[in-house]
Amino acid sequence: MRFDDAMKERLQLGLKAEVYYDIPLREWTSFRIGGPAAAIATVEDRADVIWLLNFCAEENLPWCWIGRGSNMLVADEGFPGIIFSSGKVFEKAAFLTNSTGHGGSKKLLSAGAGISLARLSLFCSENGASGLEFVSGIPGSLGGAVVMNAGAFGGEMAGVVSRVELISRKGIFFAEGSQLDFDYRTWPWYQGFANEAVVVGVEMTLTAKDPETVRERCRELVALRRGAQKVSDPGAGSFFKNPPQKSAGRLIDSCGLKGLRIGDAMVAKEHANFLVNVGNASAADMIKLMKIVQEKVFAELGVRLEPEVRIIGGGCEL
Ligand SMILES: Cc1cc2nc3c(=O)[nH]c(=O)nc-3n(C[C@H](O)[C@H](O)[C@H](O)COP(=O)(O)OP(=O)(O)OC[C@H]3O[C@@H](n4cnc5c(N)ncnc54)[C@H](O)[C@@H]3O)c2cc1C
Repeated sequence: MRFDDAMKERLQLGLKAEVYYDIPLREWTSFRIGGPAAAIATVEDRADVIWLLNFCAEENLPWCWIGRGSNMLVADEGFPGIIFSSGKVFEKAAFLTNSTGHGGSKKLLSAGAGISLARLSLFCSENGASGLEFVSGIPGSLGGAVVMNAGAFGGEMAGVVSRVELISRKGIFFAEGSQLDFDYRTWPWYQGFANEAVVVGVEMTLTAKDPETVRERCRELVALRRGAQKVSDPGAGSFFKNPPQKSAGRLIDSCGLKGLRIGDAMVAKEHANFLVNVGNASAADMIKLMKIVQEKVFAELGVRLEPEVRIIGGGCEL
């Protein structure tokens, strides 16, 4: 897909930030894999998001919001539409209220979808808010973490999120209560809207604690992560979801697949559930490797592994 001059002009007139064309998405993802996006547009405020969603609908263009690209495998053909990237307004965080009740003093934190989990974790430890320590070391954005229900060390976003602000073509709306039906590495209610709406803000209920206690727990979890995940090649963390009561890594390892390589895509020797790019892997190599791993694990152990990583572009969105 190529934008003609008239379309580029219309797009630029509707948005505040400059739009970029034919941008290699390998530079935007932790896998360092992926062909070009037809366009990347930074949304500077909520009005931009609404305008851009309407533009895509009128022009019949696919779109996708990118957070930190740490859970995405982009096709070699790239993405034939507009990638939304968040501007600074979506990177803010602030405490709304403090309240005291059962379980200690609560702190309600509101933050934009574009803030990195690293900054969010620092903000919480500086302000003595406990509950998000488990995100320390996860290299994503808050929006990506909510959509994926990211989790680690027994914690997950489901445990802290109390309200989510979304935007569709019609405007702003909120998800709360039973709509927050998070499941393992997914948010089913949102999946019903994933082609219509994006997450722009998140409210989280945390517990007041001494800042040094929160900081110490974050440090501890980062150290544990370094010990458990000594993988330096580009990847997206765990490639497959853990099947119920099983570890995907252990299943893959027990089939002797560590080190299996297709082109430059490899099952990491250090961690069998990490599929990594050891040089210049293509998305096709990575997908072939994924399928071989799935087939072998199913043939030997009868377990179907499902990818946790989102595959984007090339007509193969998962
Ligand atoms: C080294 C490494 C370690 C990791 N460890 C963990 C871990 O311990 N636990 C864990 O759960 N994950 C882990 N991950 C995976 C990843 O970091 C998380 O899933 C993270 O939450 C993804 O956030 P992101 O901003 O990078 O999302 P992206 O990769 O940018 O996007 C992922 C999906 O979410 C959608 N999306 C992102 N933001 C929005 C939004 N605002 N609105 C609508 N849709 C949106 C995208 O369109 C895409 O479908 C790891 C990854 C790496 C590379």
